[in-house]
Amino acid sequence: MPVSIVIDKLNGHDKEGKIGKINKKVGDHLSIGEILFTIESGKGALNYKSTWEGKLLELTISEGDIVSKGQSVGRVEASLEGNAVASEKKTYNFGLAKPEEKMLDVDVLIIGGGPGGYVAAIRGAQSGLRVALVEEDRLGGTCLNYGCIPTKAMASSVSALETVRNAEAHGIFTGAISLDFERLMARKESVVDQLVGGIAHLMEANGVEYVDGRAVIDELGKIKVQTKRAHYQFKYKNLILALGSKPSILTIPGSERSDILTSEDLLSMKKVPKSLTIIGGGVIGMEFAFIYKALGADVNVVEFLPQVLNILDEDVAQVIRDSAHEKGIRIFENAKALSIKETLDGSKLLEVEIGGEVMSICSQEIAMAVGRKANLTGIALEKLGVSLNERNNGIAVDGFMRTNVENIYAIGDVTNKIQLAHVASHQGMVAIDHILGKGHEMDYRFVPSAIFTSPEIGNVGITEKEANQQQLDILIGKFPFMANGKALTMGEPDGFVKIIAKADTRVIVGAAIVGIHATDLMAVLANMIANETSIDDAAQIIYAHPTTSESIHEAILMLDNRGIHFA
Ligand code: FAD
Repeated sequence: MPVSIVIDKLNGHDKEGKIGKINKKVGDHLSIGEILFTIESGKGALNYKSTWEGKLLELTISEGDIVSKGQSVGRVEASLEGNAVASEKKTYNFGLAKPEEKMLDVDVLIIGGGPGGYVAAIRGAQSGLRVALVEEDRLGGTCLNYGCIPTKAMASSVSALETVRNAEAHGIFTGAISLDFERLMARKESVVDQLVGGIAHLMEANGVEYVDGRAVIDELGKIKVQTKRAHYQFKYKNLILALGSKPSILTIPGSERSDILTSEDLLSMKKVPKSLTIIGGGVIGMEFAFIYKALGADVNVVEFLPQVLNILDEDVAQVIRDSAHEKGIRIFENAKALSIKETLDGSKLLEVEIGGEVMSICSQEIAMAVGRKANLTGIALEKLGVSLNERNNGIAVDGFMRTNVENIYAIGDVTNKIQLAHVASHQGMVAIDHILGKGHEMDYRFVPSAIFTSPEIGNVGITEKEANQQQLDILIGKFPFMANGKALTMGEPDGFVKIIAKADTRVIVGAAIVGIHATDLMAVLANMIANETSIDDAAQIIYAHPTTSESIHEAILMLDNRGIHFA
């Protein structure tokens, strides 16, 4: 049974420590109580002893590395027999006869420490509520550990790489460029660790009782957590389920193979694969396509729908298609993945049906990015009596995030409303506000989304596609970055700002930006749309020159065909 080696304690209240002498190497046998390594700090050295009997499978630290509490630093193939002994010995080592029994009496118990759960915890504690938060993995959930943050750390490294590659255009000659993938991934890990450590600090600073373990429901319907050191029981007035989501798997022959990659695997690769086929051209699939292509992989994307990034307008997707094409990413749309096979040389063969014809794509690795499903098995929901939505793919909630059971709320990906970190966080605040007796309902109309392809995309409100489906009478103002001075100085002319307004009321109702700074610029438009700003009011706002934000002003003027720098 592989188990993680986790830094479970540091000296005193230290947040970090430095790895001293490492006594074991991968492949070595570990015995219970053996010193695996030391962790040093100003307060002295602490021996990290093995609590497992087994073989050391992986150690991701070197002498001199800085580690933080909760950080996973390797894995042991532990024998079950040994584990039993280990827990006995560990108990003995700490001088405790058995784990401490703890009863926590709180106003709000939150299960899940992702951006939904931890934000709800902070907001609750800030408002004077007694809050406990249970997380079985690492604080920060999918977003900080396996989603938003690590992907964006990788995207940022890739952007630095592209800048260096294009430096000659600026008259800068760097000589041969080499990439140390291990270091790139280590940087990503340290960004993640820093943020996870920050959340742990916020829990402490706000007085949230953080319980590091898995919440389960016993026969009597009581929620419990058992850790090595303590057995927790909870008495709570309100329960918030923030259980998150897991990667979906497309069930086709061969997809059950253990070497088919998920987004989590793509974030922990040891080497850049020579070639990678990604099934799914949605947000996650396309972000990884640009990242791995820039890192040197030969990348294919297979999308079942007629358009990659199908939620977006065709003109936005076209900018991304063109950019992918220019970079050498092959995109197959209207392409149905049929099966996965292995070739004699160990490569993987994906059979795909395109236009009625069956063809194959051969690559070293195949990854699935076909969406995420709500984690409905994270806790026995049936024992709580909580109902699912009409499609059975998320916990059913109302506008205040209430489930059908009184005093039980659900927030974030597990509700399957919109699976985005900022939606989860906002839902968390709405749930807490409701517990506090404030009436602030969730409004999903103005949720912005940020997509970190190259170039980036920001989107908020209604799309042109949706407006046409609803047969709305709309005005469209569009301004290309090619006509924006700042974008040109940066050598980033691709893409545009597009703004949609209702023709009758002249109120701005939607926007899409594809191009440089798109994800940050989008906030301006999200604000306008949420405040139901009219074209006429929006046109009065002055934007600093030279900035990419001037493109927003120009697109607003283009709603009346009055753009200054574009005809
Ligand atoms: P999660 O973050 O999934 O957290 C749920 C937590 O509950 C988990 O940590 C889990 O361990 C815990 N849990 C479950 N059951 C139990 C139990 N019984 N006991 C204790 N703990 C339990 N969103 C964006 O907005 N922007 C992005 O750029 C972005 N990029 C992404 C990239 C990738 C590759 C992926 C996979 C996702 C991305 N997302 C992005 C989506 C974002 O990560 C999720 O929407 C967000 O994490 C949802 O937050 P949550 O709190 O609902 O759930």
